[in-house]
Amino acid sequence: MELSELTAKELSQMLRKRTCSASEILESVLQQIQEKESDIGAYITLTEDLAKKQAQKVDEKLAKGVELAELAGIPIAVKDVICTKGILTTAGSKILENFVPQYNATVFNKVLAANMVVVGKANLDEFAMGTTCESSALRFTKNPRDLTRVPGGSSGGSAAAVAGNEAILALGSDTGGSVRLPAAFCGVVGLRPTYGRVSRYGVIPLASSFDQVGPMGKTVGDVRMLFNAIAGEDPKDMTTIPNKKFEKSFDIKKLTLGIYKEQFNEHVDPEISASVMKMVESFKEHGATIKEISVPYSEYFLPLYQIILTIEAASNLARHDGIRYGHRTQEFKDVEELYCKTRSEGFGPEPKRRIILGTFLSSAEFGGAYRKKAFYWMQKIAEAYDNAFKECDLLISPMSCSHAFKVGELVDPIKIYALDLCAFGASLASIPALALPCGLDSSNLPIGTQIIGPKYSEKFLFDVGEFYEAHCKT
Ligand code: GLN
Repeated sequence: MELSELTAKELSQMLRKRTCSASEILESVLQQIQEKESDIGAYITLTEDLAKKQAQKVDEKLAKGVELAELAGIPIAVKDVICTKGILTTAGSKILENFVPQYNATVFNKVLAANMVVVGKANLDEFAMGTTCESSALRFTKNPRDLTRVPGGSSGGSAAAVAGNEAILALGSDTGGSVRLPAAFCGVVGLRPTYGRVSRYGVIPLASSFDQVGPMGKTVGDVRMLFNAIAGEDPKDMTTIPNKKFEKSFDIKKLTLGIYKEQFNEHVDPEISASVMKMVESFKEHGATIKEISVPYSEYFLPLYQIILTIEAASNLARHDGIRYGHRTQEFKDVEELYCKTRSEGFGPEPKRRIILGTFLSSAEFGGAYRKKAFYWMQKIAEAYDNAFKECDLLISPMSCSHAFKVGELVDPIKIYALDLCAFGASLASIPALALPCGLDSSNLPIGTQIIGPKYSEKFLFDVGEFYEAHCKT
């Protein structure tokens, strides 16, 4: 077996036992990139020279017996919305095609502090707006499990890098499913953390009420390790929160798993529902209690998400005006034309659609009515989940209604927006959700499930996910 096919946990142990070196791990990953990247297209920028230096440094330190973080020497792909000092950071947009940040995002500093090896910046839907990765203005990413299909989005490059062994771990970002959906389409594991658990300082924003950076990897154990490395309060991000202790500890015999009623609906491919139910059955066989749980208001999830997202995206994207950084149009007669031409040339169709809708919804004539009502309902939804978690420990559901689509198969934006229907709930309620593979369908494509927990339940989610991987997976 190639080193690039192993998990971060296995590689970390091998490094410590000196059965391989960080440079050899990197070499194996670079070999995969050389063989597959022209087909997969996971990366916008490769940072091979940096990676080689980092790997060498890890090897030198290990040779001297220096104690390193558990992820030291592990190759990682970083979604290209995460600012990296001196390294191109594009958000998949022409407007930032040549943008080189002067500072690092806090999460990237944490990756560096852990002595991880940075392989490159991963492709994404433009400004993380999308579900198939096809809205990237800069790169075309395909699903390593089937190259005729999309990897999912928006963190499609991150998921494809892990699934294609072009990285061992990856960072994505999840606003309304962007870590979880590509994880499901590519057959990898991804976590949306509790809102505020991971710093967004230096992460190019989409919708600030939802954005969270999330870890991705081949196994739950790997995602746990990466989450532990990146989580924590950050004085540079006022929305970060200290970890509150989650009172329950995992015991399969005491676990009550809620089957999330509304998310097993007629839109979900029966093969996916059946596979998730098989997973539920295996938990039951090991002693867990299973209950059907209803979370009300699901019919509001999509419109609410769209209202809040477009209002916040329109505001966040206002900074891209050609004045301070990023693309600037060549010719203009006054400042208005400068703004207008720069933004018309720089943004692709998806950001434009959302900027127009968000600007309309937040226009003065409505006096904030849409926004106020949306936040009122967001609170109601958080309460609905709180109530659900009085009856069960965690909720389980399909991650998506369908397996990965063919490239170009889905073009209607409304249908694309609906793809994330299973993902919006956790985003609206600010709670964590773990996406993990639970089998293959008859087309041999990965099926993804989602386990949703109360705030701060990440450790519990990982325990349950690891139990599944160890004891139930067939
Ligand atoms: N697919 C969703 C959207 O396009 C989610 C995006 C995300 O989580 N960044 O809004």
